[in-house]
Amino acid sequence: MTRNRHRDSPILWQLAIKLLFISLLFGGIPGLAPVEAALASDQGCRITDIRFWQSPEEAQIVIDLSAPPQVTPLGTLTDGTVFFDIEKCVFRPGRQRYPLNNPFIQTLNVQARSDGSVRVYFRTGPGVTQRTFVLPRNEAKPDRVVIFLTEPAQNQLARRQQEQLEINRLKAGNVKIVVLDAGHGGEDPGTRGGGIIEKDYVLAMARLIKNVFDRDPRYRAILTRNGDYIIPLERRRQMAEQLGADVFVSIHVNYNRARHIQGIEVYYESPKGAVGEADRLVAELENQQDLVGGVGQTAAPPVAAKQDIVKKQAEIMYRSGQLAGRVEARLAQAVPGLGSRGVRRAGFKVLHSLAMPSILVELGYVSNPVDASFLRNPSAQLRLAQAVYQGVVDFLESQVQPGLDASYVEYVSQVEAARRAQEERARQARLRRQAMLARSQPYTVQKGDTIPKIVNRFKVGKSQFLELNQFSPNRKLKVGEVVRIPGK
Ligand SMILES: [Zn+2]
Repeated sequence: MTRNRHRDSPILWQLAIKLLFISLLFGGIPGLAPVEAALASDQGCRITDIRFWQSPEEAQIVIDLSAPPQVTPLGTLTDGTVFFDIEKCVFRPGRQRYPLNNPFIQTLNVQARSDGSVRVYFRTGPGVTQRTFVLPRNEAKPDRVVIFLTEPAQNQLARRQQEQLEINRLKAGNVKIVVLDAGHGGEDPGTRGGGIIEKDYVLAMARLIKNVFDRDPRYRAILTRNGDYIIPLERRRQMAEQLGADVFVSIHVNYNRARHIQGIEVYYESPKGAVGEADRLVAELENQQDLVGGVGQTAAPPVAAKQDIVKKQAEIMYRSGQLAGRVEARLAQAVPGLGSRGVRRAGFKVLHSLAMPSILVELGYVSNPVDASFLRNPSAQLRLAQAVYQGVVDFLESQVQPGLDASYVEYVSQVEAARRAQEERARQARLRRQAMLARSQPYTVQKGDTIPKIVNRFKVGKSQFLELNQFSPNRKLKVGEVVRIPGK
């Protein structure tokens, strides 16, 4: 069924290349030589790992630490090498050299010093800008020092221009552009199970799907990432929009603690996610209005702008639903035994685009042994790739009539109605309180007064008293404070 050996086992190739890369890069990493016993955090920290990630535009060196570090300001040597010290820090003895030698960074040396600090030296490539910062630990990651490197601005500009020329050429030739987004990457491995690490697996699958598309001259598939690095979710969508993509397909695999759950799923934007995005876009518009100096300077007032956004969303969501249906239909048939859990909706950030139909494909559950064995199987991989291709072709080649996502339109009108009802209740409450205030009298709190005593003495309702004074039920009164007593 497959055409050559290379395509038979893309995942294995990917793994082999990656392992080679890591061992070339860092010698001992992962699997650092054991360091001295861990120190308590108030005594300092130790370096537990050093990692390097690179995308075409950026690179990162991430230094993992056992405790929050104290980092000195950057210094510069005469040859342009930059350095900083991590104080009270433990690392392997001697100077560790990492000959990275790529456009971002030429050398990285890490040296344990006799004063108990660790000095980190690095020399960036020509025109590369660097930012070095400390990140606190979170549920997934330890304390870190990150050296963040950005390529020279003119390189980025040149690449964008090159890209744009290519896109213009493709569009002129009526070639349709399919953006394939391998989920996760770099510091974010995604899920894992059944011998599969999501970020590596979905990259290999995205490449496989791209190969299938690129054999068809009507299409050009472009990957959001073509290596092991992280891209922010919003940026993935923006990349597709800048490329003028006809469709956007994000590739993932799934995990569930309930191991019996299995099957593929195809997602598109949910009404709830879209409403949140519409609010965000309107807020953004209003902020822009503030920036240009006040009301009346943008084309559309917020209400009309919101209606426009909702209409555009409903149109795109309709098309996304059509795309999701066609891809799901193909995937459900692709591998007998790898069932489908159908088309679903969720408010995933990568699916918010107003520019192109967008779907997110979960190719199966790595937590399920049956799914995992299919996912590892090269001929099943190829069938899945061909099914994604077929589903997208079914969508792009059939003349899908324009339509509106009915459930979204319905949901928006419900949300708007609830909002109006809420506003009306608030307005009524304000009016009621104004009327009560007009009929009320002031009273100065005396020593020994409590709310129950006051409402008893004046023979007024407690809830009325609380509402008039905007007090919570357990509010304590202060002597000398002036409260309002409801009129009869
Ligand atoms: Zn994922």
